[in-house]
Amino acid sequence: MINRHVLAVCLAVFMVLCAGSAFAQFGLQDGDDVTLSTDVNATAAAPQLFFAAPKTVDIGEPFLVRLTSSKVLEEVVVYWQGKEVMPGISVWNNKHIAMAMLGTDVLNAKPGPMELVVTASVDGVRRTFKKNVNVAAKTFPRQDLTLPKKMVTPPKKVYDRIASERKVIAKAKNTISPVRRWSLPLLRPVEGKVTSVYGLRRFLNKKPKNPHRGMDFSAPKGTPIKCVADGKVILVGNHYYAGNSVYVDHGNGVVSMYFHMSEVKIKVGDTVQRGQILGLSGSTGRATGAHLHLSIGVLGKLVDPAPLFSHTADQFLE
Ligand SMILES: [Zn+2]
Repeated sequence: MINRHVLAVCLAVFMVLCAGSAFAQFGLQDGDDVTLSTDVNATAAAPQLFFAAPKTVDIGEPFLVRLTSSKVLEEVVVYWQGKEVMPGISVWNNKHIAMAMLGTDVLNAKPGPMELVVTASVDGVRRTFKKNVNVAAKTFPRQDLTLPKKMVTPPKKVYDRIASERKVIAKAKNTISPVRRWSLPLLRPVEGKVTSVYGLRRFLNKKPKNPHRGMDFSAPKGTPIKCVADGKVILVGNHYYAGNSVYVDHGNGVVSMYFHMSEVKIKVGDTVQRGQILGLSGSTGRATGAHLHLSIGVLGKLVDPAPLFSHTADQFLE
């Protein structure tokens, strides 16, 4: 059974938040020979282009799209769920590679086909790739909690504070910056076991609440919290629900968020490396016990972080 304290720790956060090699990070392995072409009229002079994206993903599941070209790629734009990102372009083995991370949010995603569009210029010609990605329904585990009312409903005097924090958080979460600094797999921020999974359907005093939009890790107070990938610190706050929290921009729309810290060891504007200590775990904010809550935002959607710790880019694209 899951410890009730741990179950309860992140109960309120949802209210405010509506190893590979250098080559592997480009989504290719040494020895890959990417000569795929979807163009039946391709000639030696024509560019060979290959667009990879999954047919089906689960609700909340992050995924990758990759465009590989034998010629220089320019102005690649990925359109997904009303957002757009211009992924950084890498060159490896004479292949030009654009890769973006996408996903949906368990909070509001609906099952069904969702259109993915990628445009790119090659040799001055604008090309468009379209694909329907089927978002599949998934049943997440259920959790029932009984808590004192005062822990469930914030007092009126903090409403203004919560509203202003919500704006700052939304801005940080929706950051889409041009340089991709993340690579897969992400680094696990602490070693402790996962105590609450992403998507957990939470019922508080029998009432349904927002699902858990991150992962909780067991982390006794004072446990160093490591950054999951290279990035830049865009927000440090002491927020009503999340307590001491840190937001790191990893580029191209990927943002990691760390909550309930007892101590923060970096500041806004700092460039941070994968594995760098961001702070120490704690129980600040609406948490009933020390732990780490981690969320991963992708173009503003909070996705399931779990697959990002165990899959390389190639495994995502297989
Ligand atoms: Zn949590």
